[in-house]
Amino acid sequence: MNVILLGPPGAGKGTQAKRLEKRHNLIQLSTGDMLRAAVASGSELGKKAKSLMDAGHLVPDDLMISLIADRIDQPDCADGFILDGFPRTTAQAEALDEMLAEKGMKLHSVIEMKVEDEILVDRITGRYTCANCGAGYHDSFQRPKVAGVCDACGGTEFKRRADDTAETVRTRLATYHAQTAPILPYYQGKGILKAVDGMAGIDQVTDQIERVLGAA
Ligand code: AMP
Repeated sequence: MNVILLGPPGAGKGTQAKRLEKRHNLIQLSTGDMLRAAVASGSELGKKAKSLMDAGHLVPDDLMISLIADRIDQPDCADGFILDGFPRTTAQAEALDEMLAEKGMKLHSVIEMKVEDEILVDRITGRYTCANCGAGYHDSFQRPKVAGVCDACGGTEFKRRADDTAETVRTRLATYHAQTAPILPYYQGKGILKAVDGMAGIDQVTDQIERVLGAA
């Protein structure tokens, strides 16, 4: 099963992708995570992407399409994947269709996670992760049980994304509405788009997604 989680930054795509990964034995393909790894490693791609990411702009389509094409070619994707953060433009959506068709693969479901912009700003500016295990927290909605100590691994170092600032979030949301939301009709036309209410609690959103996948 190959699935796309589509939605604005902060909609919960990463959180839900990690849950689907475990439940359905799928691979999460987060282009944001791949780019952050490229920035951290100092690779050519990372150097090209860093300033665009920090400003809340998209990385050019040609770089993103070849990044995902190489990743989908890896054997661990053969049993199914969840795309989280790709495609983000119509050109990326069309390129994805072509690469899947070449490999004899197909998309089963595109799930739109709907969340209002004002909620997203609060969600994104308050979020942080454990530097050791990556567990996610939030200043208001999900604090560790013991202040300063990760519930999952006991780590005491936490980090915030460089682009999770109030100012950059506004640009990222504008970019989503201008460049990514126009993909929705593309998948609607193919009859594989389903929407879930991303403002519900995390478990309820998972239940909604499971219902969509059960019917896919
Ligand atoms: P994310 O972690 O998905 O919020 O992505 C973080 C940033 O990486 C985005 O704001 C973009 O700058 C860049 N990025 C991630 N995926 C893509 C993509 N498919 N196309 C273009 N830029 C991307």
